[in-house]
Amino acid sequence: MKIQENISLSAYNTFGINKKARFLCEAESREDVLYAFNQSRILNKPLFVLGGGSNILLLEDLDAVVLKINIQGIDSIREDGEQVILKVGAGVVWHDLVRYSIEMGLSGLENLSLIPGTVGAAPMQNIGAYGVEIKSVFDHLEAMEIPSGKLRVFTGKDCRFGYRESIFKNKLKGKYIITHVAFRLNKKHQPNINYGDIRLTLKEMGNAYPSPVNISEAVVKIRQQKLPDPKELGNAGSFFKNPTIPLFDFNQLKNQYPEIPGYPVEDNRVKIPAAWLIDTAGWKGKRCGAIGVHEKQPLVLVNYGGGTGTDILELSGKIQADILGKFGIQLEREVNTISSENLIQL
Ligand SMILES: Cc1cc2nc3c(=O)[nH]c(=O)nc-3n(C[C@H](O)[C@H](O)[C@H](O)COP(=O)(O)OP(=O)(O)OC[C@H]3O[C@@H](n4cnc5c(N)ncnc54)[C@H](O)[C@@H]3O)c2cc1C
Repeated sequence: MKIQENISLSAYNTFGINKKARFLCEAESREDVLYAFNQSRILNKPLFVLGGGSNILLLEDLDAVVLKINIQGIDSIREDGEQVILKVGAGVVWHDLVRYSIEMGLSGLENLSLIPGTVGAAPMQNIGAYGVEIKSVFDHLEAMEIPSGKLRVFTGKDCRFGYRESIFKNKLKGKYIITHVAFRLNKKHQPNINYGDIRLTLKEMGNAYPSPVNISEAVVKIRQQKLPDPKELGNAGSFFKNPTIPLFDFNQLKNQYPEIPGYPVEDNRVKIPAAWLIDTAGWKGKRCGAIGVHEKQPLVLVNYGGGTGTDILELSGKIQADILGKFGIQLEREVNTISSENLIQL
């Protein structure tokens, strides 16, 4: 496996932040991952695991071995009359998997069309969109323990999936590298079109009885209209999670802001769209030099070019403080901030 030195990571993160990796290597197999562990020890540099770089904010140069996971392959490993289990390499591009599954006539991933990034990173935050999260199609994953390289299989229960959460972001942070993920997909289509604008878009497209292809096309259309393409404008999708607050607090806020949207979730709590809070606080479209808040989708912070991770982090801090002051709600970041503190020591 080739190791490159002093490489700019600007093409390796969707914010387009120009920070360097002291060493960069791309793993096509588990053997390559073991080799990178070894290099990290020999070079006495910590490790950073990278997928598509679509959910990270680089704050500084990484004096580390950056290990880009490129493990490929999509294999059907089990099948019955109703379902197929696809085992997928962690380096497969997520949307390529979605397209492949649809071409195979399988259903389950269509609502998750066009989410950037790799398959291996998808369980990290239990990616979700348009009413579906991967936990609903997840079968198991295989991961290598750091630094032993020992292989471990995780079931859905082991992963402790939650809203943009899993055990890999919490208790097991920096402890495993995900090498393969297996998904349980349906041969018979069970459309899930109750969320957001999907139904309306399908109607406009003339699809009364939508197939997975139709749903995927509708989702792609909606996403292209709403979200900036990182190839044109640096961003990492939603910068904050949608907060949940107790029903009592929600009702208090509703007295002050009768139009505040909210969706009941478990434990007598209500989920509020962070985009509404940021928009109502007047941040939508605000530009601060090279960075800003997207003009159509206030949940997305953008880099117009030349912005730094620190600039973006500072802006996010100002937004958090303002939302806390105005609504008494603490916004939590969804994007992973990366600095020397997050590197894995072997
Ligand atoms: C325009 C846009 C739209 C988006 N829309 C959505 C959306 O609708 N829903 C959603 O959930 N997300 C969304 N995202 C966020 C992002 O696409 C997902 O979080 C995606 O899963 C990140 O994948 P990645 O490969 O780019 O991960 P990276 O950004 O490379 O890594 C993310 C984290 O996972 C770790 N990691 C990566 N690969 C592995 C591995 N194999 N093993 C162990 N750790 C690993 C990294 O160290 C890092 O901490 C969006 C992003 C953008 C830019």
